[in-house]
Amino acid sequence: MFMSTEFVEPTKRDLESKFKFSCYKGIACFTQCCRRADIILTPFDVLKLKAHLGITSDEFLAKYTRLYVDEKSGQPYAVLKMTEDEGKCPFLTEEGCSVYECRPLNCRYYPVGKGLVVAASDRGPVKEEFYFFIKDPNCLGYKEDKEWTIAEWRANQGADEYDEMNHEWNDIQLRRRGASGPPLDQDKQQLVFMASYDVDKFRSFIFESRFLDLFEVDEQELEKMRTDDIAMMRFGFKYLKYILMIEETLKMRVAPNNKND
Ligand code: SF4
Ligand code: SF4
Repeated sequence: MFMSTEFVEPTKRDLESKFKFSCYKGIACFTQCCRRADIILTPFDVLKLKAHLGITSDEFLAKYTRLYVDEKSGQPYAVLKMTEDEGKCPFLTEEGCSVYECRPLNCRYYPVGKGLVVAASDRGPVKEEFYFFIKDPNCLGYKEDKEWTIAEWRANQGADEYDEMNHEWNDIQLRRRGASGPPLDQDKQQLVFMASYDVDKFRSFIFESRFLDLFEVDEQELEKMRTDDIAMMRFGFKYLKYILMIEETLKMRVAPNNKND
């Protein structure tokens, strides 16, 4: 997800849509797209990058991201922070992307974008996934001869694993967008941000606060969450659905004096 729609071509595409594109070291525009870009991160992007860099999620977020809050919904997002002097991505080097194997999903997809909407149908609301092209005039990749379908491009960029991991989070964004009501207040924003992006802080919150006195969590799931960031991220999605009142994904413990025994 990019924040700007400036260069989005307003035509819906599908996996079989074709385009000509090539990006390589030596092309005249090499790394231009890694400057002054608004790249929104997904929870899985943060997991991959913090593991790759060997730092905590807290450190990663403080050093490499800035906060963006959607005005209408109050939804907080982590955005890659460009350097103050040159306005370039902190991972950009002379050689290109220094975190290439773990580059964020949006960097993988580019110059393709992915959209998700809920459309009305006879059977009720159905989710519709579509693609579009981002045609930045400064990107010379479109002038190259190599032809792709969007399906081929996605496979080439390793987008499947990221899409699978982000599926639930995207679903939460979609359902939030469709919801009416006031934007999230600051306290909620902080909780949503922590559960979405700050996996290490969220783990401390679950295990070191009164959370487990208040909520029932499956023992096996809990054990996994102690050491496995992906299990923690998935529990974060459950927590988000609960606090955003999307679904009753958590169960409160029954207070002893309320038990019928
Ligand atoms: S071809 Fe496009 S994507 Fe590749 S480096 Fe140039 S601007 Fe970036
Ligand atoms: S993460 Fe890599 S590919 Fe993405 S903007 Fe930064 S340098 Fe470019």
